[in-house]
Amino acid sequence: MANILKQQIDKLANLQKIEMECIKIGKLVKDVPEKVAELENSLKIFEQEMDNIQKQADEIKKEYRKNELDVKENLEKVKKSKGRLGEVKNNKEYQSILKEIDEFTKKNEAIEEKMLGCLESADQTEAIMKAKKIEFESAKVQVEMDKKEILADNAISLKRLEELEEEKADLLKGIQADMMDRYERVKNVVGKLPMARAKNSICLGCNMNMPPQRYNELLKCEEIILCPHCHRILHWVNENERSE
Ligand SMILES: [Zn+2]
Repeated sequence: MANILKQQIDKLANLQKIEMECIKIGKLVKDVPEKVAELENSLKIFEQEMDNIQKQADEIKKEYRKNELDVKENLEKVKKSKGRLGEVKNNKEYQSILKEIDEFTKKNEAIEEKMLGCLESADQTEAIMKAKKIEFESAKVQVEMDKKEILADNAISLKRLEELEEEKADLLKGIQADMMDRYERVKNVVGKLPMARAKNSICLGCNMNMPPQRYNELLKCEEIILCPHCHRILHWVNENERSE
């Protein structure tokens, strides 16, 4: 009788172990989509950054073209003014046209200065973009590798869950209904861990000391013994048989 009860309690302890591992692995499996999304998002951030750099490059190009048109327009004006020089009737008019020509020429010099600035900025932006693209390519490779690893781990997790479900089903076949009922009832009261190991008169579920007499009763295995403090079903391991 004592032996049967001990076996039953050992099975319940095993059941708890399986259930805990299922919960642990279940959490890992649940986290997978979020982890994968995080990885993919890191690439999206890269793409956004590259988009921004591209927009800057486009702006610079646009500004350069606008300057180019302005220069052309001013050159036209200079050409027209020069053409008018031959038709002037007095010195005052002549000086006024020369001044006009000088102004447009100076304007163009300033614009050409700006265009040089644009070219410099364009070079810088291009260099930044080039570096970003290289970074992006290696980030993509890394993300693919990380994703593969996560999915491979997940496959192992799923396989382990299947194994555990089988182990659990096998185990349940050997657990008596009243023992199972007791297990579930204690679980409802104390939470996920209805079983606790006892060792040297200490309940390892709550680390409290048990009265020596109670501990002796536990070792005799004649009835189910609950921890007087945390109310878990106690079990003990024969150290000669296995080490945990
Ligand atoms: Zn306890």
